[in-house]
Amino acid sequence: MSILAGRVAVITGASSGIGAACALAFSAKGARVVLAARRAERLTQLVERIESGGGQALAVSTDVTDEAAVAALFDAAQTRFDTVDVLVNNAGIADSTPADAMPLDLWRKVIDTNLTSAFLCARAAIPIMKRQGHGRIINVGSISAKVPRANSPAYTASKWGLDGLTRALAIDCRADNIAVSVFHPGIVATELGGGLSSLPDDLVAQPEDAADVIVHMADLPDHLNFYEALVVQNKIP
Ligand code: NDP
Repeated sequence: MSILAGRVAVITGASSGIGAACALAFSAKGARVVLAARRAERLTQLVERIESGGGQALAVSTDVTDEAAVAALFDAAQTRFDTVDVLVNNAGIADSTPADAMPLDLWRKVIDTNLTSAFLCARAAIPIMKRQGHGRIINVGSISAKVPRANSPAYTASKWGLDGLTRALAIDCRADNIAVSVFHPGIVATELGGGLSSLPDDLVAQPEDAADVIVHMADLPDHLNFYEALVVQNKIP
């Protein structure tokens, strides 16, 4: 049986793409899932789908850049399911604005959505995980944290920052049996990924492929950390 059976996983950015696929994949392993994103209707539809298959899910409409909303997300998770075992920091936005054309507001929006959100969610999750004696935080980075794309200074900085946050938290949290790791996908066929690449369909990953990796990283004994995964296109035309 999967270690995820009965565990509670909070997944941000669960209204589409990799996050929605993660919700289904964690649920298929028996996890109870808490789905966070801004588009409430999409979350509700996903909850209905999971519950109609016998799973347990909670939708919490959340802007992950909003400190109070993140606190409310973790309160709601604990009220419904008592605890949080796994946090998947997946919410993100892409941006392709060169630095000399970037308004400060846009820079802040990208950093807030892709990096500060992960800090806020981790800050809320860590005390809960400390109390129960174990936990796992998986951050969804990007190939851009390894190889920057042209004209993406904010996105690239946000994902390098997320990589750094992962390293820092992994060191700080290990004594409390909380494993912190990062998954860097290449191009995945999602709303976000479609705008990044013109690769033919058969060469991009599907959201389910990415979700399989994330579940694999989470489905380990508590004393082990699958620290980093980088899954990129093998064949480029
Ligand atoms: P999608 O656009 O399909 O999903 C992004 C998710 O993030 C949505 O559910 C969106 O929900 C959520 N989100 C965005 N802003 C906020 C916010 N302020 N508060 C709450 N949720 C928010 O793209 P992907 O599934 O591709 O992206 C998931 C992650 O994967 C991102 O971190 C992305 O950087 C990363 N990634 C993706 C790649 C790809 O090729 N697709 C490649 C490398 C990394 P809503 O709008 O409802 O709030």
